Amino acid sequence: MKEFFKGFKEFAMRGNVIDMAVGVIIAGAFSAIVNSLVEDIISPFIGAITGQNFADKTFEVAGVTVGYGSFLMAVVNFIIIAFVLFCIIKAITKAKARAEALVIKENKSEDPTKKICPFCKTEIHIEATRCPHCTSELKTRELDA
Ligand SMILES: [Zn+2]
Repeated sequence: MKEFFKGFKEFAMRGNVIDMAVGVIIAGAFSAIVNSLVEDIISPFIGAITGQNFADKTFEVAGVTVGYGSFLMAVVNFIIIAFVLFCIIKAITKAKARAEALVIKENKSEDPTKKICPFCKTEIHIEATRCPHCTSELKTRELDA
């Protein structure tokens, strides 16, 4: 039994499990907001236009009631959630790309007066045409470019 709890703790403490739990909780809270938006704000507006509560719209086929109004509200719910998720993912992707670009830029501008000799891999002056360590002849910057 002790082993079981130890294993469970290891499983639960893994980063992605916690991330997933946070995601599920936020998604639950978020879907409540979207539900309220559709049911309490959008649906009454549509109702005011059509003169009837849209979510209550039904028709009967062979004695069976088809609640298509409620179904359409669920579709509207889904579209709003999908759109917001799309915006969030897009924003995260953009922020990540910007952070990566910044890291690359920082690495490039680390020390613009030095370069690495391709023969002995030591750091030498950027304008050197001959390596002071291994005396290998180096391409000039003009030839490199
Ligand atoms: Zn060298």
